[in-house]
Amino acid sequence: MQTASCIGSFDVCVVGGGPAGSVAALKLARMGHRVCVVEQSPFPRFHVGESLSPGIWPILDVMDLAQAVQGLNIIRRNVAFIRWATGDVERIRSTDKFGNTLIDRGVFDELLLDRARNEGVTVFQPARAFNVCFDDGGGTVDLAVAGKKVACIAASYLIDASGRGKGLGGRVVRLSPKTIAICGHFDRGPLDNAALLEAISDGWCWGAPVPGGLFSAMIFVDPSSIRASSLRPETFFRTRLSDTRLFGAFGDLPLVRRVFGRDASIFRTAEPETSRVLRAGEAAYTVDPLSSSGVERALRSGLDSAIVVHTMLARPERTPSCVQYYFDRLHEAIQSHSQWSADFYGEVTRFAAMPFWRARSTPKPPVLRSSEIAQLPPSFDVSAGLPLTLSDDIQFVETPCVMGNEIEMRMAAKSAIMDRPVVFVGGMELAPLLNSIHGSISAEEICKLFRGQNSNANAGGTLRWLVRNKFLSAA
Ligand SMILES: Cc1cc2nc3c(=O)[nH]c(=O)nc-3n(C[C@H](O)[C@H](O)[C@H](O)COP(=O)(O)OP(=O)(O)OC[C@H]3O[C@@H](n4cnc5c(N)ncnc54)[C@H](O)[C@@H]3O)c2cc1C
Repeated sequence: MQTASCIGSFDVCVVGGGPAGSVAALKLARMGHRVCVVEQSPFPRFHVGESLSPGIWPILDVMDLAQAVQGLNIIRRNVAFIRWATGDVERIRSTDKFGNTLIDRGVFDELLLDRARNEGVTVFQPARAFNVCFDDGGGTVDLAVAGKKVACIAASYLIDASGRGKGLGGRVVRLSPKTIAICGHFDRGPLDNAALLEAISDGWCWGAPVPGGLFSAMIFVDPSSIRASSLRPETFFRTRLSDTRLFGAFGDLPLVRRVFGRDASIFRTAEPETSRVLRAGEAAYTVDPLSSSGVERALRSGLDSAIVVHTMLARPERTPSCVQYYFDRLHEAIQSHSQWSADFYGEVTRFAAMPFWRARSTPKPPVLRSSEIAQLPPSFDVSAGLPLTLSDDIQFVETPCVMGNEIEMRMAAKSAIMDRPVVFVGGMELAPLLNSIHGSISAEEICKLFRGQNSNANAGGTLRWLVRNKFLSAA
C-alpha cells in the first residue's frame, strides 16, 4: 500500500531497533526484502539487560554476528555465587564454554542495528513511530521527531519490536504480580566480582560486573514493599543490599549515577495476532529478568517473525499456517517460561510463606513439557533386542514448522504424554519414520531403519527418546 504523502514504501516496517527488531530486519534484508527500522532513540543508548545467556551464541553464529560481538568489550563469568533455595551460599560453575556474558547493551544493540543498516536496511533514527494503520492490504506508519510528525511510510507488513514499554500502545494481560526493579551502578574499583544472586524475604537481588569498571546491581520487589518502607528509592536500595550476605560490601560504595526503576513484571500483549502485524521480542511478551534470557528470546522471536513474514510475502497462500505457527510458538514460550519461573521461585522454601514468594511460586497445573521430556534419564537398553511396536495412541497431525527460511505444513506425531506434536527428532522427520514401522520389530532393526534415513543419526539415542516419550512400547 502506497499513499501519496508517504516518503517510502517497504515490504516490511520494523518498529524498534532493539535485539528483536534488528535481527528481524537483518534476516529479512538478507532474504531480499525492502525493510526499514524505525528507532526512537539515538544509539548507543542505555538499556537494562546486561547479562546474556549462553543460548545467544548459536543464534549470533547463524546470523554471522558472533565474531563481531566477541570483539566488543565484554566480560565473561563462569562462576556465580547464589544464595537461593536454602540460606547457604552456593558456588555455581557454568559448564557452558561461554558461561555468562556481561555486555554494555547500548553498544551491543548499536552493533546489531549497524549490521542491519550496512546490509541494506533503511534506518529512521531517531524517529518515533506512531499512528500505525494496517489492514489486509498493508498499511502506513507516521514518524515523529521531537514530537512533530515529519513523514509517513507505507509497508506491506509491520513487525512491532518496540519492547516492554509498548511503544506502539496496546493492551496487555498480566502474567505475574507487579514487580519493580531498582537498579544502580557502582564503581567496582579493584574488586573482581562474580555474578551474584540472592533471595531476600520480600524479593531478590542480582548483580554482576559490567564493562566500564562498573558493578550493576538490581533488587526486584513488589512496589508495595517500597511504599510500605517510606524510604527514598536509593536508601531502600542500599538498605536492602546491606542486609544481604552477598551484596553487603556494595551498600556503602559510591554509585556512578542515580538509581532508577524499571517495571519487571511478566505480561503478554492482549492484541490479537493478525496476518499483517506481528509482535516480536518483549512487544509480544515479557520474560522474568530472573531468567536472564530476555535478549536470547528477543533474538529468537525476531528471527521467527522474519521467517514468517518472508513466507507470507513469498507464498501468500500459506498465510493461515504462518499465523498459526507464530501464535503456537508464542503460546508455548509463554507457557514454558511461566512454569519455569513459578518453579524457580518455588525453590525458595525458606520464604515460601512471605507474600512476594507466595504470589510468584503458585504452581501451575502440571503439564509435561517438551524440555522436561528431553531431560528424562535414559532407561532403555537398546542392545537388549526387545521386540517393540508403535504405541496405540499416537496421533498424526499436520502442523506448520520452519523448513529452511520458510514455514511449511508438515505431518507431525504426538504421543499421549506430549504437549505438542513433533516434526523432527534427531535430525529425522518423525511421522514418516514411525509410519515405516509395522508390527513387532526389534530395537536393532529400528536402529537400522533410522540409519537408512540418516547415516549420521544417533540411532540409539533417538530410539530411547521414542520409548521414553511413549511413541514405541514393548510388543
Ligand atoms: C530490570 C530488567 C533486567 C533485565 N535483565 C536482563 C538480563 O540480564 N538479560 C537478558 O537477557 N534480559 C534482561 N532483561 C530483558 C531484556 O532487557 C529484554 O528482554 C530485551 O531488551 C528485549 O529486547 P526487544 O528487542 O524486544 O526490546 P528492546 O530492547 O526494549 O528494544 C525496543 C526498542 O524499541 C524502541 N521503540 C519503542 N517504541 C518505539 C516507537 N514508538 N518508535 C520507534 N522506536 C520505538 C526503543 O527505543 C527500543 O530501542 C531485563 C529486563 C528488565 C526490566
